[in-house]
Amino acid sequence: MPKTESSAWLARDAAAVWHPFTQHSRWLDDEPTVVERAEGPWLYDIDGNKYLDGVSSLWVTTFGHREPAIDAAIRDQLGRLDHATFLGATHRPGIELAEELLATAPRGDRALGKVFYAGDGSSAVEAALKMAYQYSVQTGRAKPLFVRLAQAYHGDTLGSVSVGGIDLFHATYKPLLLKTVEAPSPADFDRRATGEAEAAAEAAAGLEKVMAEHGEEVCAIILEPMVQAAAGILTYDAAYLAAARRIADRHGALLICDEVAVGVGRTGRMWASEHAGIVPDLLIAAKGLTAGYLPLSAVLTTDEVYEAFLGAPAEARTFFHGHTYTANPLCAAAALANLRLMRERSLVEHAEKLGDRLGVLLAPLAEREAVTDIRRLGVMAAVDVADKGERAGVAVCRAAKKRGVWLRPLGNSVVLMPPLALRDEEAELLVGALDEAIAEVYA
Ligand code: PMP
Repeated sequence: MPKTESSAWLARDAAAVWHPFTQHSRWLDDEPTVVERAEGPWLYDIDGNKYLDGVSSLWVTTFGHREPAIDAAIRDQLGRLDHATFLGATHRPGIELAEELLATAPRGDRALGKVFYAGDGSSAVEAALKMAYQYSVQTGRAKPLFVRLAQAYHGDTLGSVSVGGIDLFHATYKPLLLKTVEAPSPADFDRRATGEAEAAAEAAAGLEKVMAEHGEEVCAIILEPMVQAAAGILTYDAAYLAAARRIADRHGALLICDEVAVGVGRTGRMWASEHAGIVPDLLIAAKGLTAGYLPLSAVLTTDEVYEAFLGAPAEARTFFHGHTYTANPLCAAAALANLRLMRERSLVEHAEKLGDRLGVLLAPLAEREAVTDIRRLGVMAAVDVADKGERAGVAVCRAAKKRGVWLRPLGNSVVLMPPLALRDEEAELLVGALDEAIAEVYA
């Protein structure tokens, strides 16, 4: 294929499209990839170049692209039912997926017993926030305040922005947002100086202080369990999560675990909450849920929360919330096939081993002067590179692309989130290309 294919499509793109999180004055400078097809962990551009998908198409693929069993499940569903509303009707894939999800849910001092569907991560966060507030209203007293963590990211709709803590993304919208109070993030404390356990203890003390002051008004604490992903894969100690669970209970607030990025095997456990042995009151799943095929998210809730919404219709305790495409059967079929296949092929166990392997491969990079920190939990990792004028992370990713690996940074953090089913030789290619890319950019 002629080399001009990409440039022709990019010109048409620039003339017609507005991309997310993109400064369009610079869009074409970064030579965006025109993806034509994909298979397993590989992306192919329209000029026929092949790249390892090092960030799982923004953290979503589990097995990789076009896994035959998932393709077949979607086709099979398409042969029977494309879409039906979930308002006043139901369908097999929606029911079976809820059962399958609940069967995987973390277990402990409470049980997640119901599944509420939404469309993507942000819309599930919205649903969880509204549920938490309405729960407070219907169990005694309206508590209009949410506790959020510094550096948190929960999505881009206004409710989810309200509980975010990344100024670059969120500060502009402050006048529009819900009432929240910020608690420190475990990442605010220098874990390398004091150790992760100490950072967790300091952040937990900070959360306790916030709750001591505002707890009466707080309906829920929302957090990303184990890793603040969009802030730069900021990992923290499980002790913080366990403390947050205890503090929420002590103050009568719900704990919302946003597992959009960390759930569905990504951290080497099915759910990141498992690392701390806790069960949230509301667990949010999205991204990897459909194996990266289609948009679908879910809020898993305890029966206690669910039951607070029961009553005679006239009492209006109903959760008046839902989207047109909620539980779309094609999306549900993809997710169901993904979860079943994950179980059959022990994908979570594979992810844990793959994560360890990535850790071994990444360790020598820490010796490079340009590498300022490496963080990893399971199959999510970040390699921080030193400031180098403008956009060092972008420069490293461009150099990696020349070596056949597609990456996307978060500032100066180069993110590695390959498909969970990645093979050993592919992991070596991924880290090898990154290592060489850093060497090139900092030569
Ligand atoms: N929560 C977390 C923790 C996320 O990382 C993201 C997306 N990266 C979201 C919510 C929002 O999900 P979506 O982009 O599907 O709306």
